[in-house]
Amino acid sequence: MLYLIVSSLLFSLSCQRQTCVPEAVSVIPKPLVTESGSGCYLVGPKTRILVSADDPNLLQHAEYLADIVKKATGFRLEVGKREPGGGKQADEGKDFMVKNAILLVVDESQDQLGDEGYDLLVEKKGIRISAKSTAGIFYGIQTILQILPTDIFNDQMISDQQWAVPAVHIIDRPRYSWRGMHLDVSRHFFPLEFVKKYIDLIAMHKMNVFHWHLTDDNGWRMEVKKYPLLTEIAAWRVDREHQHWNERTPPSPGEEATYGGYFTQEEIREVVEYARQRNIRVVPEIEMPGHSSEVFAAYPQLSCRGERLFVRPGSYWPITDIYCAGNDSVFLFLEDVLTEVMDIFPSPYIHIGGDEADKTQWERCPKCQKRMREEGLSDEHELQSYFVKRIERFLNRHGRRLIGWDEILEGGLAPEATVMSWRGFEGGIEAASKGHEVIMCPVSHCYLDYYQADPEFQPPSIGGLITLKKVYSFEPTPPVLTGEQARYILGGQGTLWAEFIATPEHAEYMALPRMTALSEVLWSSREQRDWDDFNQRLQRQFLRLERMGAHYSRGSYAVQIRTSLDSTSGRILAHLSSEQFDPEIRYTLDGTIPSKNSLLYTSPFPVDTSVIIHAVVFKGDSLMERPAEKSVIVHKAIGKAAQLRTPPNYRYPPLTPNPLTDGLRGSDRFNDGYWQGFHGDDLDMTIDLGKVETVHRVSSGFLQHQWSWIFFPVKVIVALSEDRQSWREMEMVNTVSPKEGGVVMKDFVAEPGGSPARYIRVHAVNRGVCPEWHPGAGDPAWIFTDEIIVN
Ligand SMILES: [Zn+2]
Repeated sequence: MLYLIVSSLLFSLSCQRQTCVPEAVSVIPKPLVTESGSGCYLVGPKTRILVSADDPNLLQHAEYLADIVKKATGFRLEVGKREPGGGKQADEGKDFMVKNAILLVVDESQDQLGDEGYDLLVEKKGIRISAKSTAGIFYGIQTILQILPTDIFNDQMISDQQWAVPAVHIIDRPRYSWRGMHLDVSRHFFPLEFVKKYIDLIAMHKMNVFHWHLTDDNGWRMEVKKYPLLTEIAAWRVDREHQHWNERTPPSPGEEATYGGYFTQEEIREVVEYARQRNIRVVPEIEMPGHSSEVFAAYPQLSCRGERLFVRPGSYWPITDIYCAGNDSVFLFLEDVLTEVMDIFPSPYIHIGGDEADKTQWERCPKCQKRMREEGLSDEHELQSYFVKRIERFLNRHGRRLIGWDEILEGGLAPEATVMSWRGFEGGIEAASKGHEVIMCPVSHCYLDYYQADPEFQPPSIGGLITLKKVYSFEPTPPVLTGEQARYILGGQGTLWAEFIATPEHAEYMALPRMTALSEVLWSSREQRDWDDFNQRLQRQFLRLERMGAHYSRGSYAVQIRTSLDSTSGRILAHLSSEQFDPEIRYTLDGTIPSKNSLLYTSPFPVDTSVIIHAVVFKGDSLMERPAEKSVIVHKAIGKAAQLRTPPNYRYPPLTPNPLTDGLRGSDRFNDGYWQGFHGDDLDMTIDLGKVETVHRVSSGFLQHQWSWIFFPVKVIVALSEDRQSWREMEMVNTVSPKEGGVVMKDFVAEPGGSPARYIRVHAVNRGVCPEWHPGAGDPAWIFTDEIIVN
């Protein structure tokens, strides 16, 4: 007893000698309840981690914490079992706290915490996490790591650091049970070490699903014992890494396929176990019936055409090669593959793709047509439904559940299927209202392979712009669903397709910090979500990522430049903004790169003549992201009312409210948010200048990139009118060949020579469909326009 008193006296004295200065509590995703206390607990070499039971998972979590703490602190905490009522250090009766210990308690009676929630208490004498399950303990540990000094994420030992944990009581549990991140390893192959790092990032964000896209047209990535050619042949393609993804040349005769790789079954088991220890389920995806042409490089007899293909080194569109749905040996093959998949992956869910399956070959294939007749299927969509249902029956027989992309709704949904809604929310809404489970990953919010800042200054990417704030605004449960239907929304997922992502560093850059925003969407309660608050907590998350050596994007520091017309003064105003919290924006108008001494942006400023704006965000003395640069072209139509007969396509949302009359030109990236796309439609726009003005010149900007199915309009008709009754028309016919390669930009200029006009109509005629020689022959052609300049 004397020993106890003396040692605790010594302990408290030593504690008082060291001033305990914890960092403020800043946790992502935001916990449900946070009550700050006073003082803090110092983690030191004498701190023990005690578990409440001999549960191997619990012990594993304890060791996990000890391992991480050791890296930065240099001391390894002793892990042991807490002996109730015994042990000299035990301090019974005070709400289960043990002096100088991190106590991990699984208590199955804590129903209020759910399967993944936890209760974390930090007091001056120690720390306790209690949870209903070991998963909850794991998330409590993640929170401890975040309230320790940020340096705890360092890989190298840091001396002279005080490892203070602020006194706090946190009660936390997730909103959704499916909090996923996807990784495509087919378009580019990623090494095992990176897959593990990706899983660590998922765990850090309290996410719990790793959706592993293992097969696609550009390479098969999983060893299948029964079909060795899948990894001998289908995993390898010719190396075209130096070429743009959409413009890669096919193999030359006899050329060796040297780019690729695959994961052995042993490696995959290692990943599955690594993930399991972090409460992450690995959901494998084996694509069928489309996105499977790589298989036909190894086993051509499984496709409708039976032709031996090569593994595509780049873009492959439209994807016409497809598994033959009329050939029973296809189903035998797939069942064999899935048998090995189920053997390696314990996940109750198996993803079978099902997206973007072009049915052209099925329409022409006698076997597929015979199958349709025999099964009484009225069209090829029903044939796909037959295909998926047949696979589903196989999976169900083995106690597994099928997941597919939302195309599996077409032609009739398989009875037990779970739908991943990617083309928008509609597929998910339809499935949930039919009583099917849904995972929301709409392309509008969750495609982390899209641009995250002004595309002109970002590495090439596949899609439009999805900023950090846009991801944070994602609401997985559509309000149109009833309470009953809403229960079928399991959660959501971030998607990382790898066409334009060739390295681990770039994958991290695209995923971070947007997965940080997504993690809060999926974990935190709706009421807890607050953009400004998140943005402030994000600053500490950035430091953690830096300590971990993760390559995150600073795209949210980019400055966006837009314009407006001040209706009272008639002047054009420039607006500068950044998604970062309370940014210090500095700008110049003389073409130079802004410095710390440049003009500080405080409010919109007038721009009376055309000018180049450069703008940056400073944090302290550091320039956070490369400067935004934009020319503002002052002309008569800026901010004036304009009507469009057909709205531009939703896939390229504008950065500014009036993108075609904002004085801002697009770059050579058609998806930069300054260009507006019209898919198969004409651009037909009428601008009202508000009063009759003298018009000398009407210039309309267009872009052609035939590889992206974007062509110049056939002609542009400009019409002027004072009264909207009588019009004066001018016609400019396109003279640039549709075959012209690369990106071509051109202004179609009408010069009415000082005509009076109030209304200006610009009608750009789309060629309608892609020409016959083009891969998209017969499909709608795009036109892209950035600005109608009136002088
Ligand atoms: Zn067929």
